[in-house]
Amino acid sequence: MRAVVYRQANQVEITEAPDPEPAPGEVLLRPILTGVCGTDKHLLAGGFMATYPLIPGHEIVAEVVHGGSTLAAGTLVAVDNTDVCRACDYCRRGQTLYCTAFRSLGCNAPGGFAELMVAPERKCFPLDGVDPSVAVLTEPLACAVHGADMLALTPGSDVLVLGAGPTGLLLTQLLLHGGAARLTVAAPSQHKLDLAVHFGADHTVVLPRGDQDGAFAAIKALAPNGFDVVVEATGVPTILERCPSLTRMGGTIMVYGMADADDRVAFSPYEIFSRELTIKGSFAQIECFDRSLAYLRTGRIKTDGIVTHTFGLDGFADALDAARLPGAVKAAIDPQR
Ligand SMILES: [Zn+2]
Ligand SMILES: [Zn+2]
Repeated sequence: MRAVVYRQANQVEITEAPDPEPAPGEVLLRPILTGVCGTDKHLLAGGFMATYPLIPGHEIVAEVVHGGSTLAAGTLVAVDNTDVCRACDYCRRGQTLYCTAFRSLGCNAPGGFAELMVAPERKCFPLDGVDPSVAVLTEPLACAVHGADMLALTPGSDVLVLGAGPTGLLLTQLLLHGGAARLTVAAPSQHKLDLAVHFGADHTVVLPRGDQDGAFAAIKALAPNGFDVVVEATGVPTILERCPSLTRMGGTIMVYGMADADDRVAFSPYEIFSRELTIKGSFAQIECFDRSLAYLRTGRIKTDGIVTHTFGLDGFADALDAARLPGAVKAAIDPQR
């Protein structure tokens, strides 16, 4: 089969690879649409949990090639890329996301930028009519569902989301449906802010990549006492550093964007202490696929306009850089193209 292979950090090939063989409990799949995301760049740069050689691709919609005990051949599924050992200290306490042997197809095991792959059958969720172009957002939306679980938003909250990438746009909608009385989005790209408004955001602020003082003053003017909740969804440390001053006393900052492991920020501990701020993290997801698909099935969470570019396997390098194209939000790979 043909596949994208990360040989080692910063070395990518589109090449022939051995066809995978399903182990007991696994099914053979033909990926038909796999989303490209910032994590794929972090993995290529040697970050996150990369183990090489790696076939990346963790946002997978696939067709079942050979039926298993519950899935018939030809069934279209969204593949939950995460799996856990169920034996470590965390798993035994029911905190499976913290599994010390956390497995993630496309991150530390073969993923969906390939003509074929294998996955546990119980991790394959039938689309049941959801279009693959919509279902390709099941994994990012599942991560947003986990983020909403972690945030446990109080109804009536005034929310600021910094960043309007695909996950920011999905989380924005979840928070609008899950308790935000008002939601403001700040991000560099006007076309992404337009999408945020289309998805229901009340206010938007253009947050340029250069001098941001004016933009942060405009954000502050919207909530002079601060927002109840500030979601940092860019992964940029200098933006996270601004978050305490934007948060209302007793409020919550959620670190949702992925920074580099070596990044550092400077906070005033006195400010966190005296203003009783809470800082929460949210990482990936586990066991959120069914709820994610439920949102996509009813259309409660909208996806139109998020995937703007689709490439074949040979276009992987372009797909990885698609975010730089004018009007781009997110790219996907059709491995069968
Ligand atoms: Zn992703
Ligand atoms: Zn475990």
